[in-house]
Amino acid sequence: MHAAVMYQRITFHAMGDFDPSLDACEDYDLSLRVARRLPIATHAGLVAEYRRHGTAITRDADRMRRAALRVLGRQRAHIEGRDDLTAASDEGRAFWLGHYPPTSIASAVIPLSAQAGPVPATRRSGRNRGSAGRVLMYHRIGEPARDPWGLAVSPVHFAEHLEVLRRERNVMSLSDATRVLEAGPLPADAVLVTFDDGYADNLHAGLPALERHEVPAAVFVSTGYFGRPHGFWWDELERILFEAPSLPGSLELDVRASSLHVDLAGLPERQAGDAADWRALTGGPSTARQVLYERLWTWMWLVLDAEREEALDKVATWAGAQRTPAGADRPLSTSEVAEMAQHPLLGLGAHTVTHPRLSGLTASMQRLEIRESARTLEAISGRPTFAMAYPFGGPGDVDPDSVRAASEVGYRVAFMAVPEGSGGGHDRLGVPRHYVPDLDGDEFVRWLHADEDAGSAVPREEPAPVLTGSAR
Ligand SMILES: [Zn+2]
Repeated sequence: MHAAVMYQRITFHAMGDFDPSLDACEDYDLSLRVARRLPIATHAGLVAEYRRHGTAITRDADRMRRAALRVLGRQRAHIEGRDDLTAASDEGRAFWLGHYPPTSIASAVIPLSAQAGPVPATRRSGRNRGSAGRVLMYHRIGEPARDPWGLAVSPVHFAEHLEVLRRERNVMSLSDATRVLEAGPLPADAVLVTFDDGYADNLHAGLPALERHEVPAAVFVSTGYFGRPHGFWWDELERILFEAPSLPGSLELDVRASSLHVDLAGLPERQAGDAADWRALTGGPSTARQVLYERLWTWMWLVLDAEREEALDKVATWAGAQRTPAGADRPLSTSEVAEMAQHPLLGLGAHTVTHPRLSGLTASMQRLEIRESARTLEAISGRPTFAMAYPFGGPGDVDPDSVRAASEVGYRVAFMAVPEGSGGGHDRLGVPRHYVPDLDGDEFVRWLHADEDAGSAVPREEPAPVLTGSAR
């Protein structure tokens, strides 16, 4: 069951607002529509308790049961042919029948743990993977001044991670891991180290440590970003907003068919530490720059690459800033990728061309992104591209067309950015991964040994703008 939820207004409108034709459960209906398109986090344990007040609408069990079943039934058309989702929907139906029985007792206090509700099957099955080896997901090796998505692991910590992995685990290369993953999950003691996006620091700060500890790794690169002067859009947005000397009191952004209004009245423009330690989504934006970053990030997450570029132009002008070149956060150049392709410890994989949210694209656009990135990598390396990682990589960011395209293009494995994977059982085109936080060696040992549920509690790779944490 969804609990109290706060949506950003852009999300609310993008999903079509409340449906006024319903006489109850409008929030549940909205929540299900959001869940079809955006990632939703779930809790395994008790997080809240609800009480039915004598005068509240929820006391009318018959009305609530009818409304909840009607709203749930509306989703049936979207899950045709999906056995896992149909089973989840049936489970949800059974839940509502039990939750609002004809003789329901008013004022009962119902523990949320008894209200598991229609949790997607993909989430539940994830907990059965405790015995499988882990695919670890890194992005950057460095110590950036700002890191809203927690993407960077410091060089010292990274070296400590590798020391632990060398000592305790069977670290596999991308090609060996692929052979195993084609048949089933990795063995319990196996680990595959992966990097996403294609930051230059993977080569300059990451590789020396990998060489020292003789740990192989996979690097998934977005080919359209090779040598792009302004770097990745989420980094440039952060530079523009946090480095501008001052910002106007409100933003009106119009890009093609989309517009965004952000009113900053009453918000402090900045405060001590608003940049360095702040984490988007989990940090609760409290300054104008933080609020803008989250709103613009979410907006840009949902649009096409060309629209992002246009938006960055307009936001820079609005902020009185220049579109400055990337610094330590720059992407790899083509020649650096060529150098990495020849390195015996590294395996290269694709991460699409423009790093789109695939589920927001048509099937043919998805195919183009997934195919062209493989071709570019093949032209650079002279070898077939057999692995990819889905950008953002949450369950809502990848749809059946993405998986079909990955299969048709000939990828042997494709990686998610969440510990749950893409489906019920093992799926070589929806392999789960674990986001690695910037922990020191001792903390990393504890993290590595934590059971699967604890592992699932860390933020996901790609910042899920709505309800979960972390980026790319
Ligand atoms: Zn990414």
